[in-house]
Amino acid sequence: MQNLLDLDADALIAWFAERGEKPFRARQILRWIHRFGETDFDAMTDVAKSLRALLKETACIQPPVPIRDNLSTDGTRKWLMDVGNGNAVETVFIPEATRGTLCVSSQAGCALDCAFCSTGKQGFNRNLSAAEIIGQLWLANRLLGAEPNGERIISNVVMMGMGEPLANFDSVVSALKLMLDDHAYGLSRRRVTVSTSGIVPAMDRLRDECPVALAVSLHAPNDALRDKLVPINQKYPLKDLLAACNRYLDKAPRDFITFEYIMLEGVNDGDEHIRQLIDIAREVPCKYNLIPFNPFPDSGFHRSSGPVVRRFSQLLNEAGIVTTTRKTRGDDVDAACGQLAGQVKDKTRRTQKRVVPIQEVL
Ligand code: SAH
Ligand code: SF4
Repeated sequence: MQNLLDLDADALIAWFAERGEKPFRARQILRWIHRFGETDFDAMTDVAKSLRALLKETACIQPPVPIRDNLSTDGTRKWLMDVGNGNAVETVFIPEATRGTLCVSSQAGCALDCAFCSTGKQGFNRNLSAAEIIGQLWLANRLLGAEPNGERIISNVVMMGMGEPLANFDSVVSALKLMLDDHAYGLSRRRVTVSTSGIVPAMDRLRDECPVALAVSLHAPNDALRDKLVPINQKYPLKDLLAACNRYLDKAPRDFITFEYIMLEGVNDGDEHIRQLIDIAREVPCKYNLIPFNPFPDSGFHRSSGPVVRRFSQLLNEAGIVTTTRKTRGDDVDAACGQLAGQVKDKTRRTQKRVVPIQEVL
């Protein structure tokens, strides 16, 4: 059985061509699946009966299964999605006055082991398929009650959930293409953001194959510190990363890179770090997004205090660099950045490398 959620437009057209069907049929099906959220081939009334019969025999539309649904007091909603084999990933919807953002996961766990990240502390379990990635958007639209021709509830997507998107390149790009496709979700490139810890060769590939807005998890302004906080820096040091950012900007839908910077007390929040960040901004057109550290058990880090974050932000702004501070959302349901799946592990009092086992959260 072919799960049609795994196929972007080109792949679906090719799949149909192998069965002697024209490209417009593939686009028709794409609309039924992604715009109308239909899973029943019989309901696709403008599709020939013979084709519907073929689809029923050989294909399915199988989104991930939500096994938990939490609503935060601030309106943030978090779903835990079953992705089979005892694995679950999280998807978070963040409503704001002018937009609705869905934070999507790309991997069950993550191999990159950043020092401050609870997903990293779980280790790597497996890559999500394209169906599991786009399926998070598909499902969130359904669960939020999106109407096919109504106002968009999800206006922005950020690949900032569990996992490193560029370490699961092909599936992530297929899902991104569906997000952008006019027959599917029709989001503009500026409203779809990939966040990466800095896998340089994959940044170049993304620029060439599907340039969407790019956020880079900087977190440290010099190699000595970044080697420790974001270990992938040992392979792709700052000089290479910043050069890749500039290459990316040739084709990026925005004319700046967003650098994410978690504020860790006494670690990366000193005056010398501000100076180094100003130097980096001279090299790469960028904006800084300061992120208050979200603690999790045994992380060994503390969040920088409010006044320290405000001063940091003010000095960067005064140096002419647009700097924003991320509001912590959904932390009462453990949906804040870096908390994904962390608390379930803690409640079970186990510390082995693993992702959330479904039986523990049912
Ligand atoms: N792997 C990608 C995307 C997922 S992480 C990346 O690293 O960019 C999404 C964002 O959450 C990153 O900026 C990451 O550094 C941040 N993050 C991780 N742990 C966090 C924590 N404990 N508190 C706040 N933000 C965290
Ligand atoms: Fe992986 Fe991103 Fe967490 Fe680093 S911050 S361990 S790259 S998910």
